[in-house]
Amino acid sequence: DQVAVRRALLSVSDKTGLIDLAAALAARGVELISTGGTAKAIAAAGLAVKDVSDVTGFPEIMDGRVKTLHPGVHGGLLGIRDDEGHAAAMAEHGIGAIDLLVVNLYPFQETVAKTSDWATAIENIDIGGPAMIRAAAKNHAYVAVVVDPAQYADVMAAIEAGDGTTTLRLRKKLALAAYGRTATYDAAVSNWLADQLGEPNPRYRAIGGELVEVMRYGENPHQLAAFYRTGEKRFGVTTATQLQGKTLSYNNINDTDAAYELVAEFDPKRTAAVAIIKHANPCGVAEAKTLKDAYLKALACDPVSAFGGIVALNRTLDAEAAEEIVKIFTEVIIAPDATDEAKAIVAAKKNLRLLLAGGLPKPAEMGLTVKTVAGGFLAQTRDYGTVDDIDLEVKTRRQPTGGEEKDMAFAFRVVKHVKSNAIVFVKDGATVGIGAGQMSRVDSARIAVSKATEAAKAAGLDRPLTEGSVAASDAFFPFADGLETIVAAGATAVIQPGGSMRDNEVIEAADKAGIAMAFTGMRHFRH
Ligand code: 5GP
Repeated sequence: DQVAVRRALLSVSDKTGLIDLAAALAARGVELISTGGTAKAIAAAGLAVKDVSDVTGFPEIMDGRVKTLHPGVHGGLLGIRDDEGHAAAMAEHGIGAIDLLVVNLYPFQETVAKTSDWATAIENIDIGGPAMIRAAAKNHAYVAVVVDPAQYADVMAAIEAGDGTTTLRLRKKLALAAYGRTATYDAAVSNWLADQLGEPNPRYRAIGGELVEVMRYGENPHQLAAFYRTGEKRFGVTTATQLQGKTLSYNNINDTDAAYELVAEFDPKRTAAVAIIKHANPCGVAEAKTLKDAYLKALACDPVSAFGGIVALNRTLDAEAAEEIVKIFTEVIIAPDATDEAKAIVAAKKNLRLLLAGGLPKPAEMGLTVKTVAGGFLAQTRDYGTVDDIDLEVKTRRQPTGGEEKDMAFAFRVVKHVKSNAIVFVKDGATVGIGAGQMSRVDSARIAVSKATEAAKAAGLDRPLTEGSVAASDAFFPFADGLETIVAAGATAVIQPGGSMRDNEVIEAADKAGIAMAFTGMRHFRH
């Protein structure tokens, strides 16, 4: 199953590593064939190279749209070498076998990231490249195909080790990577078209990603993991520049994403906001005039859990906030940007990762989320609903005060990002108790209250922080008991979707307690 590499076709947009590879091949006596720009680069390095037009006897036409789409090329990639008929066809038409194909594609993803010009995007859809890649990968019994400069060194080392040959196992592995590449390439084109047309329906989305990084491990050390970027353009971990600290782990990325999506609910033009996240759930969220104040208020909610957390900010990280954040052990800070002073303060903590995302994700954008199930996956639009789009329906005799109304909206923004069942207590623009991920709503309420009691104790206060607070629930109360737990903790107003068969019992309990309660009509399950 060894195949000698005698003839190689190279056609690459990204010329990284090209000359080293071409030189190594040439040194082994491999004949090099190449397309316009690639051939020029190889020739300029003083290496012998044959233009693909000389092989096909046909010039590159239509501004490069048709360069390699020719039987002289595809016959050489697809011919079965030990099939008599194929061999006869190759001999008859003067088609030479190609043993190694090196192609990387027109930079479609990079182009649409930079420009919104339709014609430029279209011209950057590579046609001949994927055709060759797919042909060579299909004929892996004879042909080795390389699609990424990151593969060059390993493939060349394998060819050297095989004294100028490739093994079947290597060619199969290369074919696997090649089809992955063409699949993600077409997925990127499809998703770009979906974005251009404003088509949010997951039915029309190609779920494919571009490998960003192979990770050391997954959620646990025995799990393998990799990080992919899809065509969807959202600010967050995929757009962020990491200024310092160790590489992000699987859990870091998951939690950082949750943190940033949450803090993005707060319009930076209106307020400064900070979210502290542990295990993808917030343990403190607050808004204030400054990031420093917002951070301190968020931290006060649950300082025990905040240890080793992820801190997300909705504005440019400034020195005052940075000074506070570095006081306790934090895994990751993510913000749209940071001042030089803030960067210097964070730099003193070598292990602390600082990510600058360049902007904030848009909460009201539909986007796409994906979740795996055994043998498949579920796709849906993001939970793009926000409290800004809702007219609150007050259901109780008592109307909420202006202050309560503000905190209700705040609480509902936060509860959207807490795993269900979720109960969130808020006071003066800060969470004071969060109950997450319980199997019963009443348990989530109890946990939120006990958290608030703990936090009050830690702060040396004798009354739980839930007193005089407002509470949000991510879904309706199936019974009055959840609401009664909230009332008993001292909340004076509640915001919830409504829609239970027993809404009347719950409204009655609220009226009996003299609190205000409003319905949103919008549920925020997060399982
Ligand atoms: P070069 O810089 O060598 O002129 O062009 C290299 C690029 O052209 C590669 O990205 C390769 O995938 C692409 N390519 C090769 N053949 C064809 C073709 O027939 N049509 C199109 N549209 N692109 C091709």
